[in-house]
Amino acid sequence: MRIATIHVGQETNDFNPLPTTIDDFKAFGILEGQEIIEKMAGKGQVGGCVDAMAASGMNVEWVPIVSGWAMAGGRIDTGARLFFEERIGTGLRKAGKVDALALHLHGAAAAEGVDDVEGAQLAICRAVLGPDVPIVLSLDHHANVTRQMVELSTAIVAHRTQPHDTYDTGRLAGDMLVRILRKEIKPVMAWRKIRLVTHQEQFLTSQGPMKAWFDQARNWEAKDKRVLHVALCPMQPWLDVAEGGWTTIVNVDGDRALAEKLADESADFAWSMRQDFMKKDAVSVDDAVRRADQAAKGVVVLSDTGDTVFGGTAGDSNLILEAILRLGIKSKALMPLIEPGTVAKLIAAGEGAEITLPVGGHSSPKFFKPLTVTGRVRKIASGIIKVPVFQQPEHDMGRTVFFEVGPATLMVSEKPGAAGNVPDVYRWFGIEPSDYKMAVLKTASNFQFFKPITSEVIRVDTRGPGQSDVVGLPWQRVPRPMYPMEEPKSWRG
Ligand SMILES: [Zn+2]
Repeated sequence: MRIATIHVGQETNDFNPLPTTIDDFKAFGILEGQEIIEKMAGKGQVGGCVDAMAASGMNVEWVPIVSGWAMAGGRIDTGARLFFEERIGTGLRKAGKVDALALHLHGAAAAEGVDDVEGAQLAICRAVLGPDVPIVLSLDHHANVTRQMVELSTAIVAHRTQPHDTYDTGRLAGDMLVRILRKEIKPVMAWRKIRLVTHQEQFLTSQGPMKAWFDQARNWEAKDKRVLHVALCPMQPWLDVAEGGWTTIVNVDGDRALAEKLADESADFAWSMRQDFMKKDAVSVDDAVRRADQAAKGVVVLSDTGDTVFGGTAGDSNLILEAILRLGIKSKALMPLIEPGTVAKLIAAGEGAEITLPVGGHSSPKFFKPLTVTGRVRKIASGIIKVPVFQQPEHDMGRTVFFEVGPATLMVSEKPGAAGNVPDVYRWFGIEPSDYKMAVLKTASNFQFFKPITSEVIRVDTRGPGQSDVVGLPWQRVPRPMYPMEEPKSWRG
């Protein structure tokens, strides 16, 4: 069997005004041809899919087309969107006859003037391959599933956990493809859009309402062999698009009536828990830094919910730094700051120099303003960092400067990299995070990398393009009424 594979991922945050460019994809590596299979071996959606198909014993000739991944961020600019559309179209045309396509996308990407980037990519694939070649689409669970995605794919799978296990998702896609190609199954999909956009604090699948919702899906799959996979996609809450909202997709072997019934039940269950999904744990900035300062031991993780780079924000919020300095906190604090202009000024000052300058708050004037601080330039570095971030084996965070301001060590970089969420990145630069009492993480969910050295996680109720106050975001395009902005009569609207 000749199987084409494509992997493109970016999660868009519509409230971050900085566009995502081709350079943002290049920072994590764009791969073409066999290099994709080699570099992704054992990793991510591509590696999982390859391994699952190999384990089935099926004789597979891989036809890898393109792989590109960028950190979550603002809308993809036209150049980057067209680059991938061209590579996908040309690559598939050149590939000749293939038996199937393993299409690994994110599902929550938007571009300048285009709300449904993945739907458009899928349309190109379908146009080249024709109506009969199976396409299994694997998505992030924060995807915004659209009519186009469902109509043009043969089956859709999505991450079963948050934090995500992308390799597992790839395996699901591979297993599905094997069974389709062996004609063991004929998937039918039923799907429902649910009028929900809730904040990130209840997104972990290990606890609370998200666990209950995901467990229901897993129980159906375990009890009835006809239920192939239930893909649950609670859309990440910063995507302001015309078809926005949560989705449930039920893939069933043959039995459409069963798929439709379960899709309704899944949507009903999510809707019944809508108030639970809105429970907030975050505390005020001042309370959070005082609690971290007074903790018996570190590392206390301060989750900067409003500036979650893994949720697509720019990473230049200075709200936690401001509170540390204003409150006279003495404990050592470690934090990232993504701000190319500040990097340039610090490099111009030179290693060892003391400098006063405004830091942070440049990207999103609706949420932040710069803060003037005085500090010392400790270290200047650059280069490729051989530390994996999600599906990508290495990355470039541009020029990076460590800057000491009072009790805080700022890792100021030109590009996001892992946004301070992966301790091994600090270690790469010779900084040991466990020497610090507190560390600011630019994520509201991905605490797993810091977990071995974490004493406590405090969610900080910071404003910003990733803020937990979803009602307060400047929505323009999502369908209304939408919970929690309104109280629709049902999930159907
Ligand atoms: Zn996600």
